Amino acid sequence: MSRIVVLGGAESGVGAAVLAKVKGHEVFLSDKGKIKDEYVETLKKWDIPYEEGHHTEELILNADEVVKSPGIPGTVPMVQKLRAQGTHIVSEIEFASRYDSAKKICITGSNGKTTTTSLIYYLLQNAGLNVGLGGNIGKSYAYQVATEHFDYYVLEISSFQLDDVYDFKPDIAIITNITPDHLDRYDHKMENYVAAKFNITKNLTRDDCFIFDSDDDITIGHLDNIILRCKMLPFSQEKEVKQGAFLRDDKIVLRYEEEETDLYLQELALGGKHNIYNSMAAALAAKASGIDNEVIRNSLATFQPIEHRLEPVLSIKDVLYINDSKATNIDSAWYALECQKRPVVWIVGGTDKGNDYSILNDLVREKVKAIVCLGVDNAKIHAAFGSMGKPMTDALSAEEAVRKSAEFAEPGDVVLLSPCCASFDLFKNYEDRGQQFKEAVRKL
Ligand code: ADP
Repeated sequence: MSRIVVLGGAESGVGAAVLAKVKGHEVFLSDKGKIKDEYVETLKKWDIPYEEGHHTEELILNADEVVKSPGIPGTVPMVQKLRAQGTHIVSEIEFASRYDSAKKICITGSNGKTTTTSLIYYLLQNAGLNVGLGGNIGKSYAYQVATEHFDYYVLEISSFQLDDVYDFKPDIAIITNITPDHLDRYDHKMENYVAAKFNITKNLTRDDCFIFDSDDDITIGHLDNIILRCKMLPFSQEKEVKQGAFLRDDKIVLRYEEEETDLYLQELALGGKHNIYNSMAAALAAKASGIDNEVIRNSLATFQPIEHRLEPVLSIKDVLYINDSKATNIDSAWYALECQKRPVVWIVGGTDKGNDYSILNDLVREKVKAIVCLGVDNAKIHAAFGSMGKPMTDALSAEEAVRKSAEFAEPGDVVLLSPCCASFDLFKNYEDRGQQFKEAVRKL
C-alpha cells in the first residue's frame, strides 16, 4: 500500500482517486479551487478524504506518488515543490494503465481527436467488441478501470495528459495532426508541444501500430528525428502510401498488410476534407484491430455528426445554420470554411489564443459574404478582414450574433458559427456557446 495524493478534483482526478482506493492504496485528494458537487458526492461515496480551496503541504508532500490532473500546469508552486523533493508525479492515464490489460487505441492531435475517437468507438461497437470510451470524453479512464471490465478502450488523450507519462503504452496510437495550440503551456515553444504529443508513441513495440497524417509537415518533420519500431500506418490525401490510407479517384484506399480495401467518399457520413482524414485514421485503426470491411463501410456511412462540430442545426427560410463552436483554433475554422459550398455568413471571435488570421484570407475572400464578430474584443478580427470590403458587425451574445447573421443571410446561404477562438470571454465553455447559438437559432 502506498500513499497516493491526487492533485485536482475533477473528472480525471476523482477517477484516479477512486481507482487508487479500489486498489487498496491510502488516498488523499487536494484541489486548490472548488470541487463540483457531483465529484464531492463521488468522493464521499467512496470514502476518500479530500480538501478544497487550498493545498495543505503536510498532507501532500508525504505522498509516495502524486497523480496530477492535466489541468494543473507543471509550473504551480506545489508541483515544483514535489518535483524538487523527488516525488514521482504521473498522469491519470499512466496511473490507470498499470491496472488495465485491455487493448488500447489512443488518439491525440491538435484537431479531430473527438471525431476520430468517436468514430473508432462506433466501429468497434458495431464489430461487437466489448469496448469502453474514455480519456477526454465522458467518464475518466481511471474510473472505468476501477469499476468496469472492457477488452478494448478507445481513449482521447490531450497533450496535457501526455505530459507525465512514463510506461503508458497504447496498442494503436494515432496523432491526427499537429498545428499550433495551447502554446502558453509549453513555454511558447512549438517543439515542446510536438514532443508532448509524440509521448503517445514512446513505448510502442514491434507489434503496435502508429497511425499518422503524412501530409502534415510538423508530424513528418518530427518523425525524421526519432526511431519507432512499430508498424507505421500513414494516411494521406496527397500521395499514395505503401501501407496505410490514401485517395484514388473518388475512393479512400486502405492498404493493410497484403490487402487493399476501397471506401467510396460519397458514402462517408461526415463531410469535409478534414473528415476524410479522420475517416482514414479510424478505418486504419479498425483494420489493425481485425474488423471486417463490411462493418467499416457501414459504420463510416452511418455515423452521426457530433454536437458542436459542424453540426447542422436548422434550415430557416432556406438558410442553413451550422454550429461548429468547437472550432477554437485557426486550423479547425479553415476546414469548416473550406468545405462550405454555399455563401457563408461567418460568426467568429472570442478569446484569441495568438491567432494568425492571414491563413484564412483566401477562404474568407472566396466563401464569406459577411462577418459577425462574437467577442468582447474584436479588434484583431477587424484588422485582419476589415479591408476585404465585406459587411462586418459586432455582437456580445449568441442571440445578437444569430439575429444579425439572419439579417445578412439570404436564401441559399449558410450561417456558420466557427469561431477560431476560445469561448471564455462571453461563455462558460464551447459547449455553452454552441447551446446558446442553437437556442437562438430555434427562436428565430
Ligand atoms: P478535438 O477533439 O481535437 O478538439 P474535434 O473532433 O472535437 O477535435 O473537432 C474540433 C474542431 O476541429 C471542429 O470544429 C471540427 O470540425 C474540426 N476538425 C475535426 N477534425 C479535424 C481535422 N482532422 N483537422 C482539422 N480540423 C478538424
